[in-house]
Amino acid sequence: MSFANTQCTKVLSNGYVYKLETESFQKMVKSWGATLAGVGDVREGLADEFRHLPIAVSLAVSHPPIAQGMVRTKTVTAYTNSFPAVDAVLEKVQKRTVSYLRSLGWKAFAIPPDTDKYDPSFAARLYPLFPHKTAATCAGLGWIGKNGLLVTPEYGARLSWATVLTDASLTASGKPHTKGQCNNCRCCVDICPAKALTPDEWVRGSCGPKINVGACTERLRENHSVLGAYICGLCVLACPQVR
Ligand code: SF4
Ligand code: SF4
Repeated sequence: MSFANTQCTKVLSNGYVYKLETESFQKMVKSWGATLAGVGDVREGLADEFRHLPIAVSLAVSHPPIAQGMVRTKTVTAYTNSFPAVDAVLEKVQKRTVSYLRSLGWKAFAIPPDTDKYDPSFAARLYPLFPHKTAATCAGLGWIGKNGLLVTPEYGARLSWATVLTDASLTASGKPHTKGQCNNCRCCVDICPAKALTPDEWVRGSCGPKINVGACTERLRENHSVLGAYICGLCVLACPQVR
């Protein structure tokens, strides 16, 4: 089954019929700065607030080389996934995607990067109703790894994500992931100093990999006392999918 070269049409107010091809749309969004861009049908399981926006555009920007995120002391090694420059690019791409779809008459709603979720606005209270993981897995860009993060074959979990929900009749850009692809790998499970991870593979519709959030949080607290930052990230570094 081919998912590429699919297109949708829109009759504009001037009578012009506009054709939007999924593959061309992806290329355009990547030219704006996205590392990965995909389209998924997410109508199954959408919260009532979003039922009028059944298509998700999943956007990701990759993190800089690993060395830039490493933090080492005599006693602690950690990796940060906080990169303001990456977030800035992601926000710019997301805004441009929303503007573009709206300019053609479709509705578009931005679910911002996780770093923006401190926003106290009404819209921000809707964000937790739609996780970026749903958009990315439905678009076939990646799966939920045993570390509980979105994992892609190209970049592991070293990406920041944003989503645009829309009613544009774009079709799926890839085969949706419905289960994890970690297979026999358990590098993140074994390296986790808090023993917070388990070797269970994610399956869509399940609660996801069982992660002991309390144990992970405790480790972040311990690192904070040494590094002054709530970071660990060893489960990101360990992933063999990382470039
Ligand atoms: S961030 Fe550290 S403590 Fe938390 S799950 Fe990953 S490896 Fe374990
Ligand atoms: S380290 Fe292995 S098990 Fe963990 S997320 Fe990456 S591929 Fe999956």
